[in-house]
Order: sequence, then C-alpha cells, then structure tokens
Amino acid sequence: MTLPTTTGWPTGTMRAAAVAAPHVSKILDLPIPAPAPGEVLVQPLRVGLCGTDLELLHGTASYVRDGRAPYPLVFGHEWVGRVVAVAPDAERGTGARLRAGDRVVGHTMISCGDCRACHRGRRNECAALREVGLYGQQGAAAQYLRMPARALSVVPEDVQDAEAMLVEPAVTVLEGLERVRCAPGDRVLVIGTGTIGLLAVQLTARMAGAVDVVGVEDNGLATARRMGARHAFLPGEAPAGHYDVVVEASGAAPAFHDALRCTGVGGRIAAVGVATEPVDGVHIGELVLRGVTVHGIRHGLDQYDRVLKLFQDKALTAEGMIADVLPLERVSDAFALLQDAGRTAPKVALDPSAP
Ligand SMILES: [Zn+2]
Ligand SMILES: [Zn+2]
Repeated sequence: MTLPTTTGWPTGTMRAAAVAAPHVSKILDLPIPAPAPGEVLVQPLRVGLCGTDLELLHGTASYVRDGRAPYPLVFGHEWVGRVVAVAPDAERGTGARLRAGDRVVGHTMISCGDCRACHRGRRNECAALREVGLYGQQGAAAQYLRMPARALSVVPEDVQDAEAMLVEPAVTVLEGLERVRCAPGDRVLVIGTGTIGLLAVQLTARMAGAVDVVGVEDNGLATARRMGARHAFLPGEAPAGHYDVVVEASGAAPAFHDALRCTGVGGRIAAVGVATEPVDGVHIGELVLRGVTVHGIRHGLDQYDRVLKLFQDKALTAEGMIADVLPLERVSDAFALLQDAGRTAPKVALDPSAP
C-alpha cells in the first residue's frame, strides 16, 4: 500500500495577521506549521471577518477574557483555502480523499471525538472543543494553516471562493432554521441585516416564502429587500404577535424584546446574534402563556456539506454580501472597514494569497 507523502510540505516562515494586544492588529512572521498525523496544510484564499473578530480585536470576547485566547492571536474562522500538502495518514476518517490542489472550507469547531457529547453524536456540544482562529487553534489569516483532515469539507468546482467563504456563517443560520422547524407557510421575521441576517433572509425566503426584516442600516435593509424580504422595518415597528419564526441575528440586547414582541402564539425564536449584555425586563410568563420557544443556536457543525450544496444550487448567493477583499498586509484597514456602518455590504475579507 502506498501512503501519500508529505512531499511538498513547505518549511520556513510565513506571514500571519494577528491581534497583538487590545485594539492592535499586526503582521507577524511565524514558522510554517510542521506536518502532524491526520492533518493537512492549507493555503487560505479568502478569510471573512465578523463581529467575533472585532471582539477579539477589542479584547471583549469571552475567549480573551477567560484566558483561552492569549495574544498574539492569529484570527480567521470563516475561510476557503487550497490544500498544499497532506500528512501521511490524513486521508483516514474523513470520508473524503484530500489531495493537494483541493479547495476546502474548514470547520470552526474541532470536536475532541472522545467526550460524552461526542460519543452521543452531538459534536456541536463537545466539552473539549478547539475553535479555529478563536482558541486552541491558529486561524486562517495567514499564508498557511494546518487543519485536521476530518474538519474540512471539499468545495465543489462551481462554488466561487466568495461563496465558500460564507459557508461558515451560513451553517449556523441553517442550524437555527432547522431547530425552529422553519417550514413553508411560516411567517418569518429576521432581525439584523449583517451577514447572518442577510443569509437568513435568503434562506427563509425560499424555505418559508414570507419573510420580513428589521434593521438600522439603509444598505442592509435595501439588500434584504433585493434578497426577498417583503417588508423592511426599523426596530420596534414590525407588527406585534405576527410571526411564527423570528431569527434574532443582530446581537443587540434590546432586539430580543422586539423578537419576543413580534412572535405569535406558539412561535419559535432562533437567537443567533451573541448579545454581550443582559436583556433586562424579560417576562418569562409572557413566554409561557404564549407558548413561545427560544432556541440558542451555538453553531452548525454538521451543516457544512449541506450549505455547500445550497450555494451550488444557487439557493444562496454571495452577491451583495461582500464590501471588499484586502490583502493580509492591510488588516487594520479591513478592521476599520468592518466597523464602518456605512459600508456597502456586511462582510469584509482578507486574501492571504495576494502578493
Ligand atoms: Zn464569524
Ligand atoms: Zn468532544
């Protein structure tokens, strides 16, 4: 039996973008990760930045505060890349034969395979997770990234890099819509017009038919309308008690009140946005008497292949989603654009393969 070899596994140093201290991003020279059993080396082609990366930058992320993510931290958890080298046994246990040249997306959560949750098939709830670009595993904002082969999904040829880069946020959206059992005939409200909100609008416009949107930014509301939202509302303006499914994708603490107010009897709320402050004044009795269910959506670890298929089938699009793609060296410009409320689209990306 011939095993694949580590031929072609580069050595030396690489450029990586890191948060070096609170509010400071920087380019570092780091050693290229060495071959390891079951792992492959990937060259990231596009790395999407999101609110979580901003929290890493500002030092407000829970991973930073509880010491799991020490600086310097090479971030980047939403990415597409190309396999450049494969360690000898990296083909086992993945179901996919990975070869140099394959385009792949990486799973953010790397489950341990050995805890109670993993043994019960609930990898999403693993007790010993590592998360790429967050804690326990270098992120993709670098010239190279070493990943376990089992945590990669191969990107079909007809899915563009810009689309593949959006797979990571989209898996959480799909997980949320499954948890709330979104179905044809449901009246859906999406709160938030960032990446998650707009992906939710795209999917629910197909899955349910009738979707409205709540947002605070003109560009985002206009994009949501183009993607199929029937009505666009400012916070507090959507009709009370009207919706079967509400997706809270803004992460703003007061938005949860709006979600609750708009949900009808027997309705379901998918809380996807991560509110960093407590939501005061929530009446649990209101949830009880109206039979409303709230689901906290952690991630969609088992949805990557399905989301790739949705992009392949054109049920999801990257059009209107990406404000700009910048080379790694312009990481601080990328973060500045990500915080500019007037940007034309929610997602800002880095291209670590650009010269
Ligand atoms: Zn993200
Ligand atoms: Zn586990």
